[in-house]
Amino acid sequence: MTELNITLLAGGVGGAKAAEGLAASHYAKGTKIIGNIADDDEFHGLWVSPDIDTLMYSLGDQIDRQQGWGRKNETYQVLKELAALGQDTWMTLGDLDLATHIYRTHLKKQGVSASEITRRLSKRHDVSVPILLPTDDVVQTRVKTPQGWMSFQQYFVREHCQADVVEIEYKGIEEATATSEALEQIANSQLIVIAPSNPIVSIGAILAVPEIQAAIEKSQAYVIAISPLIGGKTVKGPADKMLEAAGKSIDSKGIYQCYSRFLNALVIDGADGQDALWLEDQGLDVLVTPTLMNTTQEKTRLLTQVVEFAMSRQLDSLTTRQANRRSS
Ligand code: GDP
Ligand code: CA
Repeated sequence: MTELNITLLAGGVGGAKAAEGLAASHYAKGTKIIGNIADDDEFHGLWVSPDIDTLMYSLGDQIDRQQGWGRKNETYQVLKELAALGQDTWMTLGDLDLATHIYRTHLKKQGVSASEITRRLSKRHDVSVPILLPTDDVVQTRVKTPQGWMSFQQYFVREHCQADVVEIEYKGIEEATATSEALEQIANSQLIVIAPSNPIVSIGAILAVPEIQAAIEKSQAYVIAISPLIGGKTVKGPADKMLEAAGKSIDSKGIYQCYSRFLNALVIDGADGQDALWLEDQGLDVLVTPTLMNTTQEKTRLLTQVVEFAMSRQLDSLTTRQANRRSS
């Protein structure tokens, strides 16, 4: 089998499921992941990069599979002591996990780029699929609720996504520069897969890095997204509230609208099958299949099916796709 050059755009938990599916498939060797750094934040003076760590721990089989984030066999001695010292400890950082954040912060202070730090951490966890960053600059998602602006982690972890979302911004995005690795990877890809991640915060923050979305629009790759909604509902997390705040409908159509400028195909669950005709009318290829991924087998099956579907459609002439893109 010839090696396909595949890019996966991925957030945290939904992103890691797709990443694991590709990593366990026949297509692992040609795959690189572009992860999200806009959920990053500082706790106890340490730089934490939750989505990158979720990808890394998942692919390195170090993840706590019950919760989908954090390390397995984790303990919380340091956090307990920080609580005793009167510190805010709503961000659950375990002892093993803290070593990652200490290491990242230490290297960052020495001027090592976030991409290089990710490479070194990935090596320690035997992650064989490269995790690229969209930018080495600091970009942070901020969420406006009726109570005012807060960081993404404050909204997500401290407030448990309870409040309504009024507005979202990616602080620092205008000054951010895309990494050459990410731009090269996009340009060299035959296939770009968008994980069933939050389209507004996880994927939205990757696309918002200047040059990244333009690179995808310009690339000859076939772009296929897996919807993070099943039966019009999120499996977990605030994607529904965020779609609404962005003025998109909370269904496959809303997901399509987030990616309409470059999307060739959307993968939707059978529970959303009623949307297929409308999506096809927009010129999209549509794959209707079970998209809930809990086991390794489910992840591998879905991602293999997604790649094979995309490749079968890829045989359609490039000119048709380019024409579709121009008229969208
Ligand atoms: P986060 O960064 O940890 O919030 O995770 P992501 O942004 O990568 O993914 C969050 C999205 O993944 C949510 O909108 C979920 O609905 C979606 N999701 C999680 N598990 C699954 C799954 O097994 N199948 C599908 N289709 N979506 C999923
Ligand atoms: Ca995230």
